[in-house]
Amino acid sequence: MPADSDLSVWFEPLSRLTGIGPKLAEKVQALIGGDRLVDLAFYQPNRWVDRSLKSSFDLLIEGEVQTVCGEIQSFEGAARGSKVQKVRLSDETGFLTLVFFNSNTDYLKRQFPIGQRIHVSGRIEDFHGQRQMTHPDYVVPEARAHEIPLVEPVYPLQAGITNKRMIGFIRQALEILPQPREWLSGDVLKQQGWPDFMSALKTMHEPVELIEEDIHLARQRLAYDEAFARALRFRQIRAATAGTDAIPLIPDRQSQQDFATSLPYPLTGAQKRVMEEVQTDLSRSSPMQRMLQGDVGSGKTTIAAYASYVAAQTGHQVAVMAPTEVLARQLAHSLKVILEPLNMSVECLTGRDKGKARKQILEDAATGQTQVLCGTHALFQTGVDFQNLALVIIDEQHRFGVQDRGRLTDKGQSPHLLLMSATPIPRSLSMTIHGDVDLSILDEKPPGRQKIDTRTISNARAGDVIDGVRRAVGRGEQVFWVCPNVEEDDEHMSAMTRYAILDELMPGRVGLVHGRLSAQAKNTELERFRDGEVSVLVATTVIEVGVDVPNATIMVIEGAEKFGLAQLHQLRGRVGRGSKPSFCLLIYTAPLGVTATKRLQTIRDSEDGFYIAEMDFKLRGPGDILGLEQSGMPDFRFINLVEDQDLLALANRHSEYLINRVDELPDEINLLLELYSYSDDLRPTA
Ligand code: ADP
Ligand code: MG
Repeated sequence: MPADSDLSVWFEPLSRLTGIGPKLAEKVQALIGGDRLVDLAFYQPNRWVDRSLKSSFDLLIEGEVQTVCGEIQSFEGAARGSKVQKVRLSDETGFLTLVFFNSNTDYLKRQFPIGQRIHVSGRIEDFHGQRQMTHPDYVVPEARAHEIPLVEPVYPLQAGITNKRMIGFIRQALEILPQPREWLSGDVLKQQGWPDFMSALKTMHEPVELIEEDIHLARQRLAYDEAFARALRFRQIRAATAGTDAIPLIPDRQSQQDFATSLPYPLTGAQKRVMEEVQTDLSRSSPMQRMLQGDVGSGKTTIAAYASYVAAQTGHQVAVMAPTEVLARQLAHSLKVILEPLNMSVECLTGRDKGKARKQILEDAATGQTQVLCGTHALFQTGVDFQNLALVIIDEQHRFGVQDRGRLTDKGQSPHLLLMSATPIPRSLSMTIHGDVDLSILDEKPPGRQKIDTRTISNARAGDVIDGVRRAVGRGEQVFWVCPNVEEDDEHMSAMTRYAILDELMPGRVGLVHGRLSAQAKNTELERFRDGEVSVLVATTVIEVGVDVPNATIMVIEGAEKFGLAQLHQLRGRVGRGSKPSFCLLIYTAPLGVTATKRLQTIRDSEDGFYIAEMDFKLRGPGDILGLEQSGMPDFRFINLVEDQDLLALANRHSEYLINRVDELPDEINLLLELYSYSDDLRPTA
């Protein structure tokens, strides 16, 4: 066991290795997502190629990468006008021709002296019945055969970095990285069949034999470490937050009653339960850390409003953040409807507010005039100050990073935090994705909610859909018509074209929104629809979440097979909010693939967001369900959210056990935390 100080090698920069100068170090860093040797050690190959020596030429399999040993028989230079040179190898069973294009003749002659035995490795091809190999990956004399890796890991690469170089750097690193003391107990390792930490890395980067099961177990072990480190770090962050002093928000006894009576509808049982949970948290002197999950339309806004009401009752302010301008305004509007009758002032701040208006909003927030300030990312910029911010609410929280959360809570003194999400995430994944938060679930829809009649329709019958839409408009109802693209692609009608067609049939009754409009234009158009000035709103997915128009009864989704399940469910949730029968019409372009068919069937047959999310996990993986591009998706090196759910649950339990048992973490666990602390959402916010 090396001395402890040696372990710092894990954190030394890439430039410590020979062959990596500052320029290359930068490139490698961009590729592997870190600048420490541990980042190199944690860079996972995406496949492995078996390059162990095969017995003889006659057993070679065409199309596969293989390694053989043979004697050089002849060298055949390029004929006039040709650029092809050939080297002929033989063994006891036959011949193999090595083929080179445009290579330097002298160099080739030196590399292939007649009579020498060499090892070559590369893809075997068949050329008019003859075995050949074009530009072998490896050519070495028999005496140096060990230079060909028995199993070659293949890393995801980018320009300027070859796989051979990557392998070289990683092997160099593994040579000098000292073995840390094992942090997993021998019992756990045995029970799971896992290798120790160092062996797991070696199996990943330099396996001596290609055994899938070994590689699988090695990856699992590292994924477990990663999950365990995350969970433990989140618990530490939670404990640190819990230790800070929040302002207890204790409403008087009448508050809940007053709030409930001011609503135009009775609360659902689930809303009452969650209100209690939230109120209990708010009344504590350590900050609430609660995640509210509820399907679209389950009434999360009412909970947000109640929490805001409690804060205002006790003389404090609330910041409410949503991921887009449209959503922020929608949310502000919904909160106003509930809170203004209770004499509360709700304002909205987005990037669109400029000059005087913006100044006024900022001033009202700073003086405490505004009690609830909604907004986008604009909220956590400098210049936005509150007099006494005691509660932060974040809608569609998975679209923000944990860092963004921190930047907003920094505007107050340890404010209470309520996160909201319409994307149900299995409990076992919650810790890994959201961190250590308490969960409240709204699992009951408001009564009288219409079942949405969902149908799948081939685009050949789009005319029938248009007829139906015109009849609905004739009855004074409203219609969303969603297209996948703004402009035409080969198969699908664009929002523009669809708008032109519908506008001709119903002049002046059709609106259009898409992502290329300015935020202001988008908003004006949405408001026109909400206020009933237009009956049909043709849109791209900009209307995905949160837009609330109870008079809308039909949701048409064109090119439905192009959308993810979660997206379809969100879109459908825009209708069925009033008392009239509602429809969701999914127009698809045949023929559909297997997965697309499954997706459309799932959405047609179910309205249960949790079930749909589960199917989405099965069909497409969690990236889509979380809206990967926009989300602060954690930067995992080993964890696979779909396959590792049991592992994550285990890591969560172990982290809980550990943090409850010991006051100070042992050195090896601290090292583990440091090794695995690369994800942005784990770094402390500056
Ligand atoms: P989401 O959970 O998707 O944010 P909202 O809070 O926007 O849902 O609520 C959806 C709709 O349901 C809104 O029109 C809201 O006024 C209405 N609503 C909320 N709670 C109830 C309730 N208890 N009874 C009837 N309607 C409700
Ligand atoms: Mg909502």
